[in-house]
Amino acid sequence: MITKFIKRILRRDPMVKHTQANNTGVPKRIPKKAHRIDPHLLSKNAVKVTHTLQQAGFEAFIVGGAVRDLALGISPKDFDVATNATPDQVQRLFRKARLIGRRFQIVHVTFFGKGHPEIIEVSTFRALLDNAGDHVAESGRILRDNVWGSQGEDAARRDFTINAMYYDPSSETVLDYHGGMADMQKKTLRMIGDPAKRYREDPVRMLRAVRFAAKTGFALDGATRAPIAKLGKLLNDVPSARLFDEILKLLMSGYSWAAIQGLKDAGLHHGLLPLLDHILDTGADSKGANDFVKLALANTDDRIQSGKSVSAGFLFATLLWPDLLKNWKANSSKGMANIPALHDAMDDTIATQSSGMTIQRRFESDMREIWSMQPRFERRVGRYPYRLIESPRFRAGYDFMLLRCATGELNPAIGQWWTDFIATDVTGQDELMASVKNESGNSPSPAKRRRRRKPKAAVPPESAAS
Ligand code: ATP
Ligand code: MG
Repeated sequence: MITKFIKRILRRDPMVKHTQANNTGVPKRIPKKAHRIDPHLLSKNAVKVTHTLQQAGFEAFIVGGAVRDLALGISPKDFDVATNATPDQVQRLFRKARLIGRRFQIVHVTFFGKGHPEIIEVSTFRALLDNAGDHVAESGRILRDNVWGSQGEDAARRDFTINAMYYDPSSETVLDYHGGMADMQKKTLRMIGDPAKRYREDPVRMLRAVRFAAKTGFALDGATRAPIAKLGKLLNDVPSARLFDEILKLLMSGYSWAAIQGLKDAGLHHGLLPLLDHILDTGADSKGANDFVKLALANTDDRIQSGKSVSAGFLFATLLWPDLLKNWKANSSKGMANIPALHDAMDDTIATQSSGMTIQRRFESDMREIWSMQPRFERRVGRYPYRLIESPRFRAGYDFMLLRCATGELNPAIGQWWTDFIATDVTGQDELMASVKNESGNSPSPAKRRRRRKPKAAVPPESAAS
């Protein structure tokens, strides 16, 4: 006992604060036959990490969403490990390990195999707020908390009971501190501790509640749901980058349409994305916009559920498109030429969005590219189509254009023409170009047209959704 204690003291880094392990309850030990986690769904690398840590004398478990998903029989998309080793101690045990984060210092252990590299996120058990001397804002929001604690404390700081289970791959046992497994059977999403207090500490937990409810199909426990109506406004204090990350997770969950409905039901959509206010609040008159966004989200959910990638830029481009179309139309009716009207509308749409939640720059430029490509799909003359298919983001612009065709905003024959154009060879492409000439009479070459025509006020797509 004493040697064990001395060993533990020696292992500690002098710079790291630990709190005394206080009494945060005894976990329920759930054996394999009760939790039925299929070891085949485990990441070999995550098991390597827990094994290496355990060999070095530390405690280590797979934790959080991965255990939840495993218990649901779903293959987790990523694996987190929790340990009593400090980040420095973890880093020393692995070749490719990087310390990241300030608010939560964690270690990313990277494994390179076939396909994509896998990152296992390793975090040290964290202390409870009251012991940790955290910095807390007036509203109760946590600002900094890098203080290590016991596993029981770590469990108590997690959000939902089903997210606070620890799985040890060596013994195939689950440690359950807050009745997560029972809630799982009841299909209930329950916040650990006093829900109102937990939302004040971190308002993003309200968005997480909606996301997990959509993903698992579980119902929010009454006491977990009740404070959201009053506390939803606290999301206004959350830094925009954090909000963006969480909304992105929600949209990329594979259940985005259900999650957006969940946001509406909880009254949380206001101010996050103006288009959500627009779509979810105005019913029938925005039907066109609604159809477009619904289709885009269903498309995204399908792709994610079948393991395909989705670009965030593309997704936000679709979500803001109805707003952009409205602005584009308004500019055109003021007499602006087509392309300047579009670019001006893009600026407006992005500015309005940024007043709620700023979309990161790298996604913004993808969105602009996808949008500004749209009128070019209608210019099927001269060298234009040949140049368009060479743009680096052509595929995204094309997929976006097909969505517009699917909702009838753009003539589906145009979408089909492009589908044929990219599938055929040079001769076939020339024939398709000729067919457009025949469609529209003898269409002039762009060079001739430039000479003949005066700049004219342009017309955004005829049947633009309003
Ligand atoms: P996903 O499948 O989307 O990754 P997840 O549950 O793993 O879901 P993460 O954001 O990866 O979600 O977080 C990992 C774990 O960290 C959670 O399961 C939860 O235990 C804990 N956690 C994350 N964010 C919070 C938070 N804001 N408050 C409390 N605990 C949190
Ligand atoms: Mg996760």
